[in-house]
Amino acid sequence: MENSGHLLRCTGCARVIEQRELKENFRCPECGDLYEVVYPSWSAGMAEIRKPNASAMRWLWKERCCSNTEADQSGVWRFREMLHILDDEANIVSLREGNTPLYELRRVAESTGIEHVFAKHQGMNPTGSFKDAGMTTALSVAHELGFDWVACASTGNTSAAMSAYAARAGMRSLVLIPQGKIAWGKLSQAMDYGALTLQLRTDFDGCVRVLNEVVKRAPVYLLNSVNPYRLEGQKTPALEIAETFDWEVPDHLIVPGGNLANSSALGKAFLEMKHLGLVTKLPKISVIQAEGANPLYRSLLSNSGETLEPVEAHTRASAIRIGNPASWKKAVRVIQQTGGYCEQVSEAEIALAKAEIGAEGIGCEPASAVTLAGLKKLIQQGKVQSNEKVVLLLTGHTLKDSDYTIAYHRGDLLKEGEIKDLRPEIELTRRNAVELEASADEVLRELERVAVR
Ligand SMILES: *Cc1c(COP(=O)(O)O)cnc(C)c1O
Ligand SMILES: [Zn+2]
Repeated sequence: MENSGHLLRCTGCARVIEQRELKENFRCPECGDLYEVVYPSWSAGMAEIRKPNASAMRWLWKERCCSNTEADQSGVWRFREMLHILDDEANIVSLREGNTPLYELRRVAESTGIEHVFAKHQGMNPTGSFKDAGMTTALSVAHELGFDWVACASTGNTSAAMSAYAARAGMRSLVLIPQGKIAWGKLSQAMDYGALTLQLRTDFDGCVRVLNEVVKRAPVYLLNSVNPYRLEGQKTPALEIAETFDWEVPDHLIVPGGNLANSSALGKAFLEMKHLGLVTKLPKISVIQAEGANPLYRSLLSNSGETLEPVEAHTRASAIRIGNPASWKKAVRVIQQTGGYCEQVSEAEIALAKAEIGAEGIGCEPASAVTLAGLKKLIQQGKVQSNEKVVLLLTGHTLKDSDYTIAYHRGDLLKEGEIKDLRPEIELTRRNAVELEASADEVLRELERVAVR
């Protein structure tokens, strides 16, 4: 494969640079903003023959599904014409990520009155979250650049994904976490995959600060979502969705918002697909935040996304507990360019929505459930019509946070003041374990009791 030929454009000052000019912290030295990957050969003016051909690509991507090679079997790399970031495909590090299921949510459709609601389940990735799609690309770049060490500041799905891919490549991984409020559940994966985990006496922002200095002083490659190559991989669920619908895009795609890299990547994908003639219209992309971690929601409400005021983040949905999102400017553009919305949802709304997704036999992590909670809000506000085709992006697997699920069903997740008028619906979805004497009579009586409910 020839030189990748991609460039990087600053999303703040629009300066375009080459890969070797990238700073270790992936920020623009001029304006401090983040970069995005651009492909000059796709733009007008270049010889038309170099612009990828839409129908040829569609055919090729389908063909690759039956191939035996690692890159073709990956739901990320089979779309590699859209993420031409490596000089040599031999550097691909893959765990056969992507190719995730798209489920129709029939009960949700019935209860919301929307004809077609689907869940694109990114939790069905090798380490259980959508982070794998971006990690395979960014880590492959690190591998190609010859790094032995990769690092991130994360207590959650990013560290799980990073350490798995690093282990596959025979590389070492460093995870920096703040001391104190750690959800050890997810960190267990990083340990399992052999990461070096360091607990620093600071908060999350403090870890990011330290890591930025470490990557400057040692040959360690930064894999937080400021890394633009992660977003290239995270574009691929959008390609899969479009492919599943025969390149007729759904009307609306609803995504949880934390650091806002995922919503940015999906938006980039649809814009690029439209540019290349793969699709003819864009879905509205809406971003949903938890009420206690809603800096983007506030920003759009108070100043149309001109500036963003960081907040101190509180929510049980740990994957979106982010008060100062790195990719907020990119996300604002995606919402504006696609005509989507930003909404916030309460802790009780998230918990109920998670139980409803679980009751469809699918399940997801709490952060993913904001999508359904947000859909209900958008319907109430008249922003989604019954004949629209809606896709919810489920970002993480239900097993990521079983403590949350158990607490919900036992009835000790939410505080009295949080439940408000959702009590009847919450009671109906709760499935706590029932203790009984060891007798068939008792079991049969319980079955009868439940059947009449
Ligand atoms: C990382 C993550 C999010 C948030 O994605 P951003 O790109 O940070 O907005 C949501 N849900 C899950 C499960 C995640 O792991
Ligand atoms: Zn800049």
